[in-house]
Order: sequence, then C-alpha cells, then structure tokens
Amino acid sequence: MERNTAAAHRKRNLLLLGAAILFAALAVVLCLLFRPKTGVAGSFVIRYGDGQTLTVAAWETRTVVIRDGRIADEQTGEGDENVIRIEHGEAWMEQANCPHGECMKQGRLNPDTVQKRPLGTWIVCAPHRVYIELSEEGG
Ligand SMILES: [Zn+2]
Repeated sequence: MERNTAAAHRKRNLLLLGAAILFAALAVVLCLLFRPKTGVAGSFVIRYGDGQTLTVAAWETRTVVIRDGRIADEQTGEGDENVIRIEHGEAWMEQANCPHGECMKQGRLNPDTVQKRPLGTWIVCAPHRVYIELSEEGG
C-alpha cells in the first residue's frame, strides 16, 4: 500500500516535470515567434508636396495616403495618389497610380533590406515626388 502511494507520487512528479518542460518549451517558441523584428527603433520620414515631411515611428502601424502632394484622409484613386503602409518596423508603397508603379516594385524597406536594395534607405516615387526614407532617429 505504502509502495503504491510512493509510486503514484513518483509518477505524479514525473508528470509535473514533463508538464513544466513542455510549458518552458512552449514559452520559448512563443517568444521566438512574437519577438519584435530587429530595427523597430527608428522612423520613416515621408517627403511629399513642396518639401513637407511626415515622420512616422517605425513601431507604428499606419497607412498614409498622399494625394496631389497633400496628406489625404482616405484612398480614392483620384489625382496623383500614393498609399504608404508602415507595419512591423517596415514601410512599403502599397498602392500608387503613377505611370509605371515603380515605387510599388521597390519592395519593403526595413533595416534588414537596406543592404540589398538598389535605393538603400529610400523608396522613391519620382513621378509623384513622394519619398520615404528610413531614419535611425526617433522611434
Ligand atoms: Zn510611384
């Protein structure tokens, strides 16, 4: 009887240990999955119009619409329009109705991609004179 109880205790302890290990492993996996991307510090400086700038911190989640050289409330597809998306520390041109859409092909701008990008820290929409620059400051 006593031995049975001891065995049951041992079994329960093993189960607890197993659960603890499983939990720790799960916590590590979750941390890896949700760790912030490198480079969430910093900011994106958007240049438009006659030299106006708008600075958005890299950690922000934000969509910026620029139409005919001004910040617009929403996307309408009219005029010279650019839709810039900032999310998870990176920025990209989500929509643009410029002639060749080159700015949309420039991909995602973040500290990890600047080395590989032909335009480095910039996304450029030359026809609309809209520029996004990754800055190490702010954030
Ligand atoms: Zn463009």
